[in-house]
Amino acid sequence: MITNQPKIKYEFKAEVKKLLDILVHSLYTSREIFLRELISNASDALDKLRFELNRGTELIDKELPLEIRIIYDEKKKILIVLDTGIGMTKEEVISNIGTIAKSGTEEFVKLLSEAKSEANNIIGKFGVGFYSVFMVAKEVIITTRSFHKDSKAVEWRSDGLGDYEITEIESNIKRGTKIEIHLKDDSEEFVQKWKLESIIKKHSNFISFPIYIDKEKINTVAAIWREPKSSIKKEQYVEFYKFLSHESEEPMETIHKSVDAPIQFNALLFIPKSSFEFFWYDRENYGLDLYVRRVLIQHKNKDLLPEYLSFVKGVIDSEDLPLNISRETLQENVVFNKIASSVTTTILSYLYDKAKTNKEDYIQFWKEHGRIFKLGYSDFANHDKYVELLRFNSSKCSDQNELISFEDYTSRIKAEQKEIYFISGSSRDAVLNDPHLEIFKKKDLEVLYLYDPVDEFVISSIRKYKEYEIKSVDTVDLKKLEKLSDTDIPKKEFDSLSDDDEKHFSSLLSKIKSILGEKVKDVVESNRLVDSAACLVSEDDGMSASMKKILKMTNQNVEKDKKILELNRNNKLVRNLLKVFKADSNDDYIKKVSEQLYESSLLQEGNLEDPHSLVKKINELLEQSSDWYCTVKKI
Ligand code: ADP
Ligand code: MG
Repeated sequence: MITNQPKIKYEFKAEVKKLLDILVHSLYTSREIFLRELISNASDALDKLRFELNRGTELIDKELPLEIRIIYDEKKKILIVLDTGIGMTKEEVISNIGTIAKSGTEEFVKLLSEAKSEANNIIGKFGVGFYSVFMVAKEVIITTRSFHKDSKAVEWRSDGLGDYEITEIESNIKRGTKIEIHLKDDSEEFVQKWKLESIIKKHSNFISFPIYIDKEKINTVAAIWREPKSSIKKEQYVEFYKFLSHESEEPMETIHKSVDAPIQFNALLFIPKSSFEFFWYDRENYGLDLYVRRVLIQHKNKDLLPEYLSFVKGVIDSEDLPLNISRETLQENVVFNKIASSVTTTILSYLYDKAKTNKEDYIQFWKEHGRIFKLGYSDFANHDKYVELLRFNSSKCSDQNELISFEDYTSRIKAEQKEIYFISGSSRDAVLNDPHLEIFKKKDLEVLYLYDPVDEFVISSIRKYKEYEIKSVDTVDLKKLEKLSDTDIPKKEFDSLSDDDEKHFSSLLSKIKSILGEKVKDVVESNRLVDSAACLVSEDDGMSASMKKILKMTNQNVEKDKKILELNRNNKLVRNLLKVFKADSNDDYIKKVSEQLYESSLLQEGNLEDPHSLVKKINELLEQSSDWYCTVKKI
């Protein structure tokens, strides 16, 4: 293999160096996954070759079987992974191995170096590809020959520290790639046959090409998604899921379906027990593996799943797509698109059944994956199913953990009630104190509690459930509520106002309006408050206060709308204010209290921009009241 070709030295790119540095020094406990990564690369290379074969591309060494071989030398501490796949040209070696082309790798490396303690989790779950070999190798030699006619073989050598060497070699090397690993002293276990065998069984059992050690085939090579459901044991599903997802836990749900009409396909899908979304890193890393008659066409195809179902892992295999279909034209293929929409309905129907037959399991699913699932509000084609799958906390729930559906809500809705009500807030405690809810308590009307900002988008896009409009408690039309009967919750008794007081009360409202001026649209008597003194409401433009807040946060141009301040005449403070007003309609105390009530209401909505002025006013009032307190107490 000695040649006269020059050896050329190249430096690794900065991000590769960083990654290598982390890997070489990592105390990662499952270093064995390097073999999973190399075998998966070999399998990818074989898949690509098979694809070219199916397309009828001319290639070298046509007679070579498509397979992976593991060769080890116990004495020399050398391990070799060999495949007969597409191989690489010199240029490909430089661009594929010398750089990390994967999108988001930079962030990934950053995450790895920041979260040292989490490194195990991260390396295991996502895999770090070829470079993981340097966790166990002191030197790696790649010999590879591309499938193209007249291609030259190439040798790549590196100790994984700073640079690598490339030489073109002229000898009759066969098509494919050989990775020769010179193991570090502390990695000698990887030349023991039983060890290699157990690693392959654990991580690479479902690779669709045979993997040999010596002459023995180690992996099962079964396309279990094409087998009838009844012939597959639960353990096989679990094993396949672990292989597919790199997870160590069992899946939460397994969906195995064979569809025959109008289009034939098999689906084996899994819902993970826990969400993969850690730090929302790698949002783009999802998709289903697409096979055509057991031949892998594309790994992690994203068009088979809408993003809101991106937590689903699995495989789709169809008889009805052509084997030589190119990945680029998939999206335009009618059959493919029909499969994709059928996959979505399969998943939604499965979840729908689950929600009906096993509520607890469904809630478990919702708590884990609901945050992503909710994003499906824009899937209009599946709107009806989607809506049934939503869950919310509500005023009729015993605590924050209980969740209900729209169906639950409407099954116990009052006969005369034509709307579904909701309120937004950061938590149940925050919501419970909101004065807007008082009339709903009084009328014993159920209100959905929305804690996730996304819920607002969900609600505002669905608008209606069956014939019921969905309304925010602060935009609701009170006239509709007034028609509904009250509960018998005992109310605090207040005398009704005399005719004279009635007049003063309406002058007081005008007075407060003039004090608040442009800040409010109007000041009116409240029909919704039961206990509290005041609250702010919007005229019904369909958008709740919290929705406006969200839009403002995302810098959308929301018109600053003026609110109506409502005062509750059956409240002690308001009654006292009326007395003060009657005695002296220009008393400064009225101004202070009005401004305070207005700002407190803003605060409650989460729309107060300047808390300092509010605090200053509260302190002034406290100071005054302390004087009065001392006077009353004669101290
Ligand atoms: P990934 O497999 O996610 O692309 P890797 O770091 O594992 O990342 O591999 C980088 C690239 O090197 C691959 O995409 C492929 O182009 C090339 N490569 C690695 N191993 C092989 C192999 N055995 N045969 C052909 N190409 C390979
Ligand atoms: Mg890889």
